[in-house]
Amino acid sequence: PFCFADGKFIPTQDATIHPTDLGLIRGYGIFDFFRTVNYQPLFLEDYLDRFINSAAKTYLPLPYSREQLRAIIRELIEKNDLKQGGIRMVLSGGVSENHFSPAQGKLFIFAEDLIFPSKEKYEKGIKLLSLEHVRPIASIKTTNYALAVWHSHIWKEQGAEDVLYHQNKYVSESSRSNFFIVKNGEIITPSENILLGITRKNIINLAKVPVHIRPLTLIEALEADEAFITSTTKILLPVTQIDEQKIGNGQPGPVSMDLLDRFKKLESEFM
Ligand code: PLP
Repeated sequence: PFCFADGKFIPTQDATIHPTDLGLIRGYGIFDFFRTVNYQPLFLEDYLDRFINSAAKTYLPLPYSREQLRAIIRELIEKNDLKQGGIRMVLSGGVSENHFSPAQGKLFIFAEDLIFPSKEKYEKGIKLLSLEHVRPIASIKTTNYALAVWHSHIWKEQGAEDVLYHQNKYVSESSRSNFFIVKNGEIITPSENILLGITRKNIINLAKVPVHIRPLTLIEALEADEAFITSTTKILLPVTQIDEQKIGNGQPGPVSMDLLDRFKKLESEFM
């Protein structure tokens, strides 16, 4: 596979980073990740908006304009013959003398194979483990997932597939996904301490029932009729258990499954 790095397309394995880059020594950097469907980058403008915003908010200069990024992505899709796949854009914190100040970072754009959750997870739903935590600068897509990686040992030990972060009684999101519940036929998704997921936005737009975007308590989550998480790779994955509590009747619910169908229909328009 080919990667765009240092202003050119090179084999991904040949891409390099300086050992003192803040991305490496301080965990300081940003990224974004989207999919291609039939060679088309799905919702590209939304992902570019978020990536450009993440760079601005972290004081990291982007070395290319939006138009240039678009052109690079189109060429990368062609070079990798990426009919169905993932594309990751990473901007590192850069190399600075004091090993602390953000500098001109290094931009990598590369193709990845997609790893979808198994069919079984869509049919049975997954378990989340609630954990008290808020991602640092949660609204920005930074590369700092150190705690999430570390926590993964805890949730796996508890037989969970992922985590549900909460603080001061309020839930926010999962390690790499947004969180929703359905209660009395209406959808609720947290408004605070979250990354504004592109899939979340699409799911909200596709909903045929009222959607409330507001602070949501862990108790409300535990007492929901249905729950699910959304992300670029998972699309929508039903949550049928949180800690030792079954959600609803313990099966993926009709509102969740209808939304997954609607999303797949939207996606099929690109095929
Ligand atoms: N929340 C976090 C912390 C994430 O890392 C992600 C990224 O995948 C999401 C939510 C979901 O965002 P998206 O739907 O844009 O993939």
